[in-house]
Amino acid sequence: MSPLESASQKEIGAYQDAALQQLLAYVQANSPFYQRLFARHGLDVARVRTTADLSRLPFTTKQDLQQHNWDFLCVPKNQVAEYCSTSGTLGRPVTIALTAADLERLYHNEFLSFSCADGGPDDLYQLLLTLDRQFMAGIAYHGGIRKTGAGVIRLGPGHLAAQLDAIRQLGPTALVAVPSFVVALINHARSVGFDLSTSAVRRIICIGESIRDADLQPNALARRILEAWPVHLHSTYASTEQQTAFTECGHGRGGHHQPELLLFEILDEQGQALPPGQPGELTITTLGVEGMPLLRYRTGDVCAYYDGPCACGRTTRRLGPVLGRRQQLLKLKGTSLYPAAIFNVLNAVSEVVAYVVEASTSELATDELTISVALRAEADPATVLPQLRQALRAGLRVLPTLLVRPLAEVQARQNPANKRKPASFIDLRRPARLPPSE
Ligand SMILES: [Zn+2]
Repeated sequence: MSPLESASQKEIGAYQDAALQQLLAYVQANSPFYQRLFARHGLDVARVRTTADLSRLPFTTKQDLQQHNWDFLCVPKNQVAEYCSTSGTLGRPVTIALTAADLERLYHNEFLSFSCADGGPDDLYQLLLTLDRQFMAGIAYHGGIRKTGAGVIRLGPGHLAAQLDAIRQLGPTALVAVPSFVVALINHARSVGFDLSTSAVRRIICIGESIRDADLQPNALARRILEAWPVHLHSTYASTEQQTAFTECGHGRGGHHQPELLLFEILDEQGQALPPGQPGELTITTLGVEGMPLLRYRTGDVCAYYDGPCACGRTTRRLGPVLGRRQQLLKLKGTSLYPAAIFNVLNAVSEVVAYVVEASTSELATDELTISVALRAEADPATVLPQLRQALRAGLRVLPTLLVRPLAEVQARQNPANKRKPASFIDLRRPARLPPSE
């Protein structure tokens, strides 16, 4: 644990005030984008003294990064050590360039994250995720885990049989995986008669999907894993742009904030700060980043934060599960919901082995939803479909179009453009819904 993780709020505040002043002076001197932005707003950064003054600073949006990507770079290009990119799930991918110091910062961040998730030098991690294709998380986890002194098995995504072989033969103590893939792994192990609870795996670090409901209890996806496999689930959440993770300790009360690496705000639709427990848009300011620091960057992710000390001894704020992306908010017959609410219903039905939710725009310019599900081979659609319809109506208060399709077709729909990772939500609505620019 770094000293700041168990410091008083006053000590954390003093550290962050100084770090913010340093950051503002740095981007004023080195970032063409922020030089222009400050000039346009007539902003004298020397007058921004504390994090309480953050609200006087303009926002940075995804479109800013897309349109002026290289104006964010604060160092000469020959200082760039690694080019990472966002997945491009929502429009054009953005490149984030890291210097050698940024890579060290990234590994330090994951060292703190994996330590927070009860990891130590005796662990062996199996990584069930992409380690190339400019995916920042892959190298971040690898570098951070190595800093804890633990070992790594870089198996990559997919390949159920190879994953299971490695679990049996190499004995990893922890997995880093997308939780819905863990469900697929459980099903595969069952089909070949292997009892996963006899393996050495004790913890799974869950990436890419939420494992908790808004009240921080395990959601349907997490329950599905835990009922079949008594392991400890830790959620970790980050984005390429923020270069910093929020990771749960063993008490599972939200992902711990790392105050030396990031400032964050949770904002309402009007851009006003929200109190603990109220969901809003996560807005971040990076600390200690040299290549492409970001100031009040609107992530588009909607979540709430919690404060008060945690039983693990950390005093830092904790971030609850991402309830959805702001742009992915669906309006269906008067009901507003995020795709995650639909996933939660589908995950609770054990006959469903894969699904994809597709949103489109109707002729009346309203949102339309089609849910395609693949069922277990032995399941009878005539029994499962009415059960699913009832669960959707109860969970969402509306009933989208529901279709049963072959597994291969659902998988093809999950990954139409051969992206880095398949998606359970495909947004085909027009026009693209974008957050307002500053
Ligand atoms: Zn804790």
